[in-house]
Amino acid sequence: LFAGPTEFVKGVVAMSGLPDAERIEVCFAGRSNVGKSSLINALTGMKALARASNTPGRTQEINYFTAGDDFYLVDLPGYGYANAPLPVVEKWQRLLKQFLQGRQTLRRAFVLIDARHGVKSVDDEIMSLLDSAAVTFQAVLTKADKVKEVEREEILNQVRGALSKHPAAYPEIIVTSSEKGWGIPTLRTVI
Ligand code: GDP
Repeated sequence: LFAGPTEFVKGVVAMSGLPDAERIEVCFAGRSNVGKSSLINALTGMKALARASNTPGRTQEINYFTAGDDFYLVDLPGYGYANAPLPVVEKWQRLLKQFLQGRQTLRRAFVLIDARHGVKSVDDEIMSLLDSAAVTFQAVLTKADKVKEVEREEILNQVRGALSKHPAAYPEIIVTSSEKGWGIPTLRTVI
């Protein structure tokens, strides 16, 4: 699928900095620490590829990666930092809104949900933003190896309930573990 090089392109802080819209894009969103970098690394088969997005100063940027010759993987800043200053949060929300509403090559968003925690209110807010931007999104459960099967089923039910309230949500939930490699081929196929 990702035939060709996978590499970090750039971090973007304003719409004017976006690369030319010449590739299909999918973006990844999730609360800080949800396992987004690990998932992008597992997906691309490149160790530490997405670490750039976790270095201080990069966390508020939209990070672009090539995935082969045809795709961009877009790593959106992790949200839900309890102690981020309000102006920072507002600036990021503005950029996110502009990006989701204005990026024509964006085909799907993946909203990452920690298998231990389920959908939190900040996740719900992002989903509402995706609804209003009419960007189809799909939930990806992360760190599935950290919970027992019964807990996972409970969380899956909670996520299903949350998704049912969002018209832009795709019903199928992808269960993953970057550590174990679970669900990674499925996610690749979906992309
Ligand atoms: P990000 O902030 O969303 O980019 O999250 P990271 O990818 O940096 O992961 C946050 C923490 O969760 C790190 O300590 C990872 O090692 C751990 N982690 C990520 N994915 C998995 C997983 O699939 N299984 C387990 N057990 N730990 C994971």
